[in-house]
Amino acid sequence: MHWPFKITLKKQFSLLLLVVIVLFIAVGYVLQKKLEETQSILHELSNNTLPSMANASETAILSAELFLAIEQLTKANNPAARRIAQQEVQIKINETAEQAYRARNNPTEALQLKSLQEEVSQLTQFIDQKLNLAEQIANTLDHLIHFQTNANQHLLASHYNSEALTLWQLNFSKSNGLAYQSAHLERLNELSLLEKKANTLLDTLDTYAKQSPPNLQVFLRQFNDQLRLTLVSEQGLISLQKSYLKIAGRTRGREHFIRKLVEDYTNVNDQLAFNETANLKQEVLDLTKDIEKQKNWLMTALLIFAAMIGAILVHYRRVISRLKRLTNKLEGMATPKTGHNTQADEIDELFEAFEHFSTTIKDQTHRLETLSLTDSLTNIANRRAFDQKLQVDLATSQQVQEPLSILLIDIDYFKQYNDTYGHLKGDVALQKVANVLQQTLGDYGLVARYGGEEFVAILPSHDRTAAKDKAQQSIQAIATANIEHKKSHIANHLSISLGIVTHSPEQTADSDRLMKQADQALYQSKAQGRNQATHYNELI
Ligand code: GH3
Ligand code: MG
Ligand code: MG
Repeated sequence: MHWPFKITLKKQFSLLLLVVIVLFIAVGYVLQKKLEETQSILHELSNNTLPSMANASETAILSAELFLAIEQLTKANNPAARRIAQQEVQIKINETAEQAYRARNNPTEALQLKSLQEEVSQLTQFIDQKLNLAEQIANTLDHLIHFQTNANQHLLASHYNSEALTLWQLNFSKSNGLAYQSAHLERLNELSLLEKKANTLLDTLDTYAKQSPPNLQVFLRQFNDQLRLTLVSEQGLISLQKSYLKIAGRTRGREHFIRKLVEDYTNVNDQLAFNETANLKQEVLDLTKDIEKQKNWLMTALLIFAAMIGAILVHYRRVISRLKRLTNKLEGMATPKTGHNTQADEIDELFEAFEHFSTTIKDQTHRLETLSLTDSLTNIANRRAFDQKLQVDLATSQQVQEPLSILLIDIDYFKQYNDTYGHLKGDVALQKVANVLQQTLGDYGLVARYGGEEFVAILPSHDRTAAKDKAQQSIQAIATANIEHKKSHIANHLSISLGIVTHSPEQTADSDRLMKQADQALYQSKAQGRNQATHYNELI
């Protein structure tokens, strides 16, 4: 995979992390909102819809009980039954009112119940009046019977006998039947007819009373008056019965009205319950839809997270493969390595490879440095190494205030050696000389090939005498090495000549001057016959 532009790993990871965090927050926020919605619906269900349904059914039960109590009230046929029934109605109204208040606290409903209460108290009054009238009718009837019995007994005791009296007595006993009839008639028009009959009967009784024996007439008229009063007067039986029928009619009307009121009230409640059920259905439907949505949201969120994790893994793999490539490259550039850390991860491996690579580089640098300071033929220090070392040793000599000597060494008649033995042998001879010089002087200072068949040695802390001594040892060591040189004018083996110079710390250090002086001293050794050492100071 190739990216059109390069951004740092840190930025890539930060970006990914940012996207993941933003997505996480966004999805979390949405889920939270959805859950809140569900919660509010459930809240609405448990706090409003379900209780109001329960209330509606409770109201229906209370209404039925109220109906029953009102029925009992209208049926009451004595004051005690009326009182009990009225109390029951009152209790039911109160319960309904309380229940309605608890459920909805609806002012219209409260008004409905209030008017119901008023209607019931009116009804109670009517019933009281009705009962009162019934009692009066019963009393009047009793009174009439009593009065008729009295009248009959009185007439029997008088022992009178006349046709008119007999007819009066006959009609008088008819009045008894009329009175019973009137107390049991249930229609006002029948009662009016009966009233007419009663009046006619009373008139007839008056007529017979007038025709009766004179000493009875007063009695009979008194009986007639009494009968008129009890039967047809304004407080008479027929009037009472009329009033009774009227009040009974009004009671029925009121009762009907109250029933209607209760019915209306129940209907309103039924309607409310119906509405709540419809509400509940809708809400449950909404809730189901909402839960479905939430499920989809959750699935989407999961998919997004899976995608993000996939992206991170791909990215991670890409980074790892790049790390591997880099590690391999570094390993290829470094010297082969033995053994691998089995517990290492890719980054550890990269670190290891890098460390190994840097060690390789260091080794190589060191080798290059060594090579640049070593003479390839003789394997001892070269002119460059000598120049560097001389500067350092001269500075040290100044610091520690000690002398430093330099030996400039030249092989005698080496041209002839080459001419005699060939260049290759010459090279071997140079190596041998270098070896001998290194062994003789190496412990005291630096021995270097100065160029061609010339060598040089730095001897720190060596004064003129000590240096001369080392020079003599070197001449001796070369002689001892006994490198054959038939054409030498000195001996059968190679020999060397030396020029020595000593730097005193009180002087200023000048390497060029010192080397020139050493060369002059060497020239002196050559001039004096070779195979010897001359100190520069001896020239002066
Ligand atoms: P003198 O005693 O005066 O020093 O005589 P010489 O022959 O040693 O001096 P000269 O300067 O005339 O000759 C030096 C010779 O050293 C010449 C050259 O062929 C030889 N030479 C220089 N460098 C090398 C080298 O690397 N290998 C070999 N085989 N010969 C070398
Ligand atoms: Mg030379
Ligand atoms: Mg020479």
